[in-house]
Amino acid sequence: MLSVSNIAMANISQTKPRVGISACLLGQKVRFDGGHKREPFLTELFGKFVEWMPICPEVEVGMSVPRETVRLVGTLNHPRMIAEKSGKDWTEQMNRFAAKRGRDIAEKNLSGYVFKKNSPSCGMERVKVHNFKGMAERKGRGLFAAAIMQQWPLLPVEEEGRLNDLKLRENFIERVFAYHRWQQATSERKSAGALVRFHTVHKYLLLAHSERHYRQLGRLVATTKQESLAAVYDDYGRVFMEALAVHATEKTHANVLDHMMGYFSKQLTATERQELVQLIGDFRHQLIPLIAPITMIRHYSKKYQVEYLQGQLYLEPNPKELMLRNHV
Ligand code: SF4
Repeated sequence: MLSVSNIAMANISQTKPRVGISACLLGQKVRFDGGHKREPFLTELFGKFVEWMPICPEVEVGMSVPRETVRLVGTLNHPRMIAEKSGKDWTEQMNRFAAKRGRDIAEKNLSGYVFKKNSPSCGMERVKVHNFKGMAERKGRGLFAAAIMQQWPLLPVEEEGRLNDLKLRENFIERVFAYHRWQQATSERKSAGALVRFHTVHKYLLLAHSERHYRQLGRLVATTKQESLAAVYDDYGRVFMEALAVHATEKTHANVLDHMMGYFSKQLTATERQELVQLIGDFRHQLIPLIAPITMIRHYSKKYQVEYLQGQLYLEPNPKELMLRNHV
């Protein structure tokens, strides 16, 4: 039988997550003006750890490059996509295409999506919608992004602009890798034991995000004997992704670090214990990044051979080269 640490490592080392992306963000010249919006973090760093699935919805519905710009017109809930000069209505084509692509997403097993901000097709939030008097409100969502998000509510999604916020970036990428692990878990043979093992290696990661969800998931895992396994898996996946969407804070991380320290605290010398307590306190007060106390916890987990901690994905939920925890 695999130990918890083996399970965690096996999960980390498997295939790359497949992530959808607005094609212009990868440098493809598909924008209305024939240009692109290549995003260096996505192309040069994050792109090493995922397999991109680029889509330009406007080109795919038959718009040319370069092309007349389109905009959203009408009500916030049901805007239409109208070409600015000619008045051509692209709404039906775009909605049909989005529904078809939504089905492809299931087949391709996407683990996330990065949308281009402000676009009437790809924008995830704060997209301009013009009312019939010609006044614009920044409260809309691009038609393609809206359809994908509605069809796949658990899929982690973000915009490239928001990914410049390092906390949002860390949260999004962590959810992409977690969703990918969940997709792998559901593609293998389902069993009560497999679900318990999945839950076990995610314990402290979940606790850092939301204790309420963590406890709810624990109760769900315990019901596999009474409920149908498929139903429990469905509920678990939904609550698992909801939990990770709750942002971890300095306080919740420090709480997790304190818990972890409890596993080897008695084996530390007085000086070692004092240093680690100081590191966790400094992190709690935002004087040092999370990576500092995490590195020490990892070190002591290995030194004192605490297998349970070594198996916790909280200690390394994403590729370390992304350096996400150097900034939170
Ligand atoms: S924002 Fe979307 S529709 Fe516009 S060019 Fe980029 S990929 Fe195409």
